[in-house]
Amino acid sequence: MFKALRVFILLLVLAVVASAAWRARTQSVEWKYTLPVNIYLINGDGSPVAEEYLRGLTTEDFKPIATFMRDEAERYDRSANASIEIRLGGTIAAPPPAPPRNGSALEVIVWSLKMRWWAYRNTDTAGPGPQVKMFLLYFDPALSNKLAHSTGLQQGLIGRVNIFASRDMARQNNVVITHEFPHTLGATDKYDPATNQPLFPDGYANPELDPLLPQQFAEIMAGRTPLSKHKAETPPGLDDAVIGSRTAQEINWLQDDI
Ligand SMILES: [Zn+2]
Repeated sequence: MFKALRVFILLLVLAVVASAAWRARTQSVEWKYTLPVNIYLINGDGSPVAEEYLRGLTTEDFKPIATFMRDEAERYDRSANASIEIRLGGTIAAPPPAPPRNGSALEVIVWSLKMRWWAYRNTDTAGPGPQVKMFLLYFDPALSNKLAHSTGLQQGLIGRVNIFASRDMARQNNVVITHEFPHTLGATDKYDPATNQPLFPDGYANPELDPLLPQQFAEIMAGRTPLSKHKAETPPGLDDAVIGSRTAQEINWLQDDI
């Protein structure tokens, strides 16, 4: 009897969590109101360089992300509502749970639940409606020359982004953050994970360009500008990136049949 009751309560909790997540996900791409995007800063490697760098960051540093989203929304005639507001949520001392490396589907689910729980425990967002939470982990470039993959979770509207604590990298950091942000709204990757090459046509900023290569801009969910069949480069800044039509569909800026 008790066991049946426990199972029933557990199912009830899961149903509530699932329906709250579903509501937040749906509302986040309704674009009826400005979507708040809360940014939290984390010292990724515990280094003094990252510590110092975090202290110097302000909302201004992330403004290009909101500008990019606004400009791109305008291209899709969604200027009135499809905007985001960047809010700096402060620094968090404890690092979020690390995603599993080549983990099984189950490990990824467990990590995603841990990540959502951690985000719930460590943040306090004011105001109604869905809000995106982006956790930015900063690393001293002198200590790590390559960073682990960043992740954006649609479940829970959470992003976990690894970036370099360096002014020289600030513009490119915004490209990385802006790539993860639409993941939280349901946008998918548009590059080949084996080669990092953008996929044609959805990963191309201008799939109708003739000649096709080199492209001038990067599609944000491809993350790189294709220069030749086997070469692609991360754009220097958001001025060199666009949101392609497939991504626009995925975040509800375009109807599916267009
Ligand atoms: Zn991605």
